[in-house]
Amino acid sequence: MPDDHAVTDEEKQSMHRETDTDRCVASGQCALSAPAVFDQSDDGKVIVLDAEPPLADHSRTRQAAALCPAGAIHVHGE
Ligand code: SF4
Repeated sequence: MPDDHAVTDEEKQSMHRETDTDRCVASGQCALSAPAVFDQSDDGKVIVLDAEPPLADHSRTRQAAALCPAGAIHVHGE
């Protein structure tokens, strides 16, 4: 039986990102790596600017997750 739900390019490219601010140690690596996705508050804690970044920012978002010394950034999907 054919699947009548066509997967859109937008769905294929979706990336969901979660950040655990309780773990954040305010190192700032995320804001340096992906400035369109992350910023920092006055106390240095991560601020999420875009929870589902566009494809153009996926590589930088993954890099931010890899570099976060607290393991506070989790990326799901592609
Ligand atoms: S890289 Fe990690 S620890 Fe550093 S500010 Fe971003 S979320 Fe916080």
